[in-house]
This record gives sequence, structure tokens and C-alpha cells, in this order.
Amino acid sequence: MKRILLLGGVTEALAIARTLGPEHIYSLAGIGRVPDDLNCQVRVGGYGGAEGLAQCIRDEGIDLLLDATHPYAAQISQNAASAARLSGIPCWALRRPAWQPQAGDDWRDVSDWAELIQALEPFRRPLFTLGREPLQHLNEIPPEQFWTLRALDVYPGNPRCEVIGARGPFLIDDERALFERRQIDVLVSKNSGSTATEPKLEVARERGVPVLVLKRPVLAAVDREFQSVTDVLKALSTSDFS
Ligand code: NAP
Repeated sequence: MKRILLLGGVTEALAIARTLGPEHIYSLAGIGRVPDDLNCQVRVGGYGGAEGLAQCIRDEGIDLLLDATHPYAAQISQNAASAARLSGIPCWALRRPAWQPQAGDDWRDVSDWAELIQALEPFRRPLFTLGREPLQHLNEIPPEQFWTLRALDVYPGNPRCEVIGARGPFLIDDERALFERRQIDVLVSKNSGSTATEPKLEVARERGVPVLVLKRPVLAAVDREFQSVTDVLKALSTSDFS
């Protein structure tokens, strides 16, 4: 019997986990919701780096490591590639295609926080959709800016920043209302490629609002790469792993 260790934390990973039997393991970092209705085993929490992950692979007799983590979760993807190599098993990865700018878009790439802050200078009312990272910078907000920050959970803001706790999928009309209510003049986003969070880009396009796009990290090379859940499931079914 072949065993899969599936590294998850995004919608597509959960879709794959739902197809796995009880011999397989679905692994989560422990910052989001933990499903309790799966047939496969669920493991929550880190491994202590690539060595720890390789140890788990050996202890559990894993035959395939499947990385279906978020495109910006660079550390675990690097650990996955290294751990698979250390333990002599294949590593496959589901890598979502990036969003592509369309006619009418004004996207500006930024590489890191310093570039982002510089690119934000001409704007007054940014909407941040980067997760929790901006929370570390609430004391650095320039007096002429008011930030709206959307994260998975709500956190305390300050007089120049409101934090909204919300989980996708987001509807286009709700996104339109958010941009209008807060008079958003720039959107700050990762390029996650997820359909669940794509409507904000459409609203930015409609309103002529620029988007500061945090560049994707370069991820480690793996044995096989897939762009969709369907492709992963097809490969599993024809490779003796399902
Ligand atoms: P990261 O920086 O690449 O990883 C940090 C550490 O978290 C890893 O070194 C590992 O700890 C642990 N970890 C991450 N994913 C894990 C998994 N599936 N199972 C067990 N341990 C895991 O990751 P991140 O960006 O903080 O993301 C954490 C989780 O949230 C991932 O599952 C990711 O798919 C999900 N997520 C991330 C984003 C994002 O924008 N980054 C968005 C949506 C969902 P050890 O080194 O101790 O093993």
C-alpha cells in the first residue's frame, strides 16, 4: 500500500484531501481551519524544518510527498523538495498559475516591503490583502494615509488603520461595496492566482485603481508539477498512488 503525505492549507489541497483514503496524511500548518470530515488522517503543525519532515517521511513510510501549499508559502515548499530528496521519494507540487493583467489593468510589481512602501507614497487609502504581514507596520503609517487591512481574522487596528477579518470566496458586489465605502485608491495584493480572491482585481479594473502586486517567490524544483486539482488526481490514479 502506497502512502501520500499531502502538504496543504489552500482550497485545492482540501479538494485533493477529500479524495484520499485512510492510509494517507493531510498536513496543515495549524493557522487555518482544520477539517474534521476527511477519510484520510490529518496532521497539524510544523515538522521542525526539512530534516524533521524527512524524519516523518521515513517514520510513516511515505511514498510520495505532494506539495499543495500556497504559492507564497516558500519555506515549506523548499523544505518539501529537500525532505523528499533526503528520503529518496518523489516530490510533486500543485502550482497555481499566476493571474495575468488584462486590458485596463494598472499593475505595479513590488519585490518586498521596502519597495511596496515606496510605491504607496502617491496614494492615500490603500486596501491591503496580503495577510497579517502589514500588522507589524501599523506604527509606520504616514499621517496622510488611512489603511484598510483584510486578513483571515480580525485584529486591533489604530486611528489610521482598520483591520477587517474575512475569508474568501469574495463576491464581486461585496468587493465593489468595500472599495466604494472606503474610497480605496490602491489595492495591495499577492498574485495568488485563486478564483476565490480574484473579484477584487475586477473591481480595481472597473474603478481604474492601481494594484501593487507582491512578486511571487521562486519555488524549488520538484519531480512533477501540476496546475490543477484535476491534473493531480489524474496523475495519482495512473501512478498507483491512489
Ligand atoms: P511558510 O512560510 O512556507 O512555512 C512556515 C513554516 O510553517 C514551515 O517551515 C513549516 O514549519 C510550517 N508549515 C507550513 N505549511 C505547512 C503544512 N502544510 N504542514 C505542516 N507544516 C507547515 O508558510 P506560510 O506562508 O506561513 O503558510 C502557512 C500555511 O498557510 C501553509 O499551509 C500555506 O499553504 C497556507 N497559506 C499561506 C498563504 C500565504 O499567503 N503565505 C495563504 C493562504 C494559505 P516547519 O519548518 O516547522 O516544518
